[in-house]
Amino acid sequence: MRFSTNEAAFEASKQVLVGGVNSPVRSFRSVGGTPYVVDRGEGPYIFDIEGTRYIDYVQSYGPAILGHAHPTVVAAITHAAQRGTSYGAPTIGELELAELVAERIPGLEMLRMTSSGTEAAMSAIRLARGATGRSKIVKFDGCYHGHVDALLAAAGSGVQNQGLSGSAGVPDSVVADTMVLPYNQVPRLDDDVAVVAVEPIAANMGLVPPVPGFLQGLRDECDRVGAMLLFDEVITGFRLGYGGAVEWSGVTPDVWAFGKVIGGGLPVGAYGGTRQVMAHVAPLGPVYQGGTLSGNPLAIAAGLATLELLDHDAYLQLTTTAERLADGIRAAFDSSPISVQVPQVGPLLGFFFADQPVVDNDGATASASTGHFAPLFHGLLERGIALAPGPYEVLFPSLAHGDSEIEQTISAFAEAVATL
Ligand SMILES: *Cc1c(COP(=O)(O)O)cnc(C)c1O
Repeated sequence: MRFSTNEAAFEASKQVLVGGVNSPVRSFRSVGGTPYVVDRGEGPYIFDIEGTRYIDYVQSYGPAILGHAHPTVVAAITHAAQRGTSYGAPTIGELELAELVAERIPGLEMLRMTSSGTEAAMSAIRLARGATGRSKIVKFDGCYHGHVDALLAAAGSGVQNQGLSGSAGVPDSVVADTMVLPYNQVPRLDDDVAVVAVEPIAANMGLVPPVPGFLQGLRDECDRVGAMLLFDEVITGFRLGYGGAVEWSGVTPDVWAFGKVIGGGLPVGAYGGTRQVMAHVAPLGPVYQGGTLSGNPLAIAAGLATLELLDHDAYLQLTTTAERLADGIRAAFDSSPISVQVPQVGPLLGFFFADQPVVDNDGATASASTGHFAPLFHGLLERGIALAPGPYEVLFPSLAHGDSEIEQTISAFAEAVATL
């Protein structure tokens, strides 16, 4: 191997990759230290180039829901690659993935696939603006919708982990039509709002579930003023449960954005809605959006193979795993003077340093500013447990995390908490 230590590899990376990484959170900026440089992943584990094994709760920030290098997914990608990696023409795989999504998500009839969650959210916003003929968009403080210029205001984890509130290079004029409001409070809207974008369960400021009535309140308020409701399900889609946030909440948006799990670890995003809404998108309508690699056959094969394995039992198993982890994390803090909140919704799980449930980004920020996250993160990492390196991220257990991994994780938490 060219490098024998993470340190040496990361130093070399910093010479040619900005901050040594291709996405800022990976740099360990908010926890300090040198990132582990990954050699390979297998099931619940990742191995760094030094040969250290970690139980992985990053799982690529969600996509690796079956665990790393799942044999069925690897076989599907291999089979697809042997038939050509991109055509610029329709395929049966795209049709099948779209059918599968439309069948699972109540109310969604038609999709357009993209190559990332960012593109999906960006395109859904453009669609909503095009369909309503209005410009204003509403987003919530701490919700992340990708690195779309107009949505890079108070944007949760990726941005906040860097200590930024927004981004340079986004002119005021571009965010002039973006209103940022507190999560979990139903706003009173004017009739110039095109779309209200929301993470139906917020998972980029830690895990913040909607309070009862929040999502329905948004639905009612959007209906009252003729705005569209956008569920950004890039995290919740195909992780929360079989039918996503609609099945879970009973509230149906006008537009959805998906990413992460839908591509099974390869780059896929998608946005969708009813046939009537999606008819605004080219070639049926005047809202342009396209992509050279959209519907890429490898990515589609990985997505299909992944979704086909995500049956109802899979979500029960993920939920049980998340419950056990949540109980274990709570117990680890039992004899600690530090208060913890461990929100858990089905397979989704996070934790905050707080003595009350966190309902918005102010609460998430207060938790982050206790400074407890970085030492806990490193205490866990030393014990072979890899969490995402930032206080605003959630934990991503996979179907490959079994009893032994859960037990090891819980005892590592107990030990690490005791050193805080
Ligand atoms: C990750 C994420 C995105 C952006 O997806 P990318 O694939 O990183 O572009 C958008 N919305 C939410 C809710 C996300 O978690």
